[in-house]
Amino acid sequence: MTDPRTAEVDARAKINLFLRVLGRRDDGYHDVETLAVPISLADRVRVHAHSDPTQFRTLALELEVVGDPALTAGVPVDDTNLALRAAAALADRTRARGFAEITVEKRVPSAAGMGGGSADAAAVLRVLNELWGCHLSDAELRDVGADVGADVPALLDGGPVVARGRGEAVEPVDVAAFRWVVLPLGFTVATRDAYDWWDEEGVAGGRGADSVVAAAAVGDARALARLMSNDLEEPVIRHHPEIADARRRVLEAGALRAMVTGSGPTVVGLLDDGTSVDLPGASEVMSAGHSRSGRPGSPDR
Ligand code: ATP
Repeated sequence: MTDPRTAEVDARAKINLFLRVLGRRDDGYHDVETLAVPISLADRVRVHAHSDPTQFRTLALELEVVGDPALTAGVPVDDTNLALRAAAALADRTRARGFAEITVEKRVPSAAGMGGGSADAAAVLRVLNELWGCHLSDAELRDVGADVGADVPALLDGGPVVARGRGEAVEPVDVAAFRWVVLPLGFTVATRDAYDWWDEEGVAGGRGADSVVAAAAVGDARALARLMSNDLEEPVIRHHPEIADARRRVLEAGALRAMVTGSGPTVVGLLDDGTSVDLPGASEVMSAGHSRSGRPGSPDR
């Protein structure tokens, strides 16, 4: 029999097929417009939890981060961890009382532009909403998630989205699945640094997401390859020129287009049908497509 207090889900990372920075706001954040798509690379998140304010007067949150030391290094295990911050934010909002024991098995490199920490937070919100019996709506969960991290609302959706504002305004879009090669680099870039570098020299403007979404919707990899763009790419490469070499290697290995995802440094390469690449350190992944069948919300128990 399954244990109603335990759930285990994939916390899928994302890649940005398009990321336009519109400008810095008075609160220090930046307004963006981005097409963010979950990929098959995911952390595994296990949660054992129960809430009953008539039975418990306190809330106990515990976190364990496991996995390859190369992936767990630098991931905090204190209350700054995004998984714990998500649990605490949900408990604040819903007055949950009881416990949650969370185990995050890292498979996604962190501070790599793939939203790994935000994916953990989104998974924890979905699972605890169920296990704690909070009954928050999708919109309410997004609202809680937006305070935890800018990528959390997009990743809560579980499917491809265009996110605007600082990431909290999420519009699901119906795009096709594509194959990608993902090449993580052996260093991290802090998202904040990437935006500071954009501030130094970034020029706001350029076209919106409509044409890239249209190309992705019909599954036209060659058109998508021409239309993909990321305003953070050049500022980040100026500070880390080795990313340009990685981009070149992904192209030489046979990708239609290679680009930095998010604030980097991970480089993703779009693959044409039937192409497969052999590149040391890289892995092939699928991005989520039309059906949004991988939406979180129905954890495998
Ligand atoms: P973006 O795609 O927005 O650029 P990112 O992939 O670069 O995000 P994350 O992997 O989400 O960044 O993590 C960013 C930082 O958050 C890391 O430097 C790490 O110290 C911290 N962090 C907190 N919690 C987690 C977590 N559960 N997993 C990974 N990193 C975490």
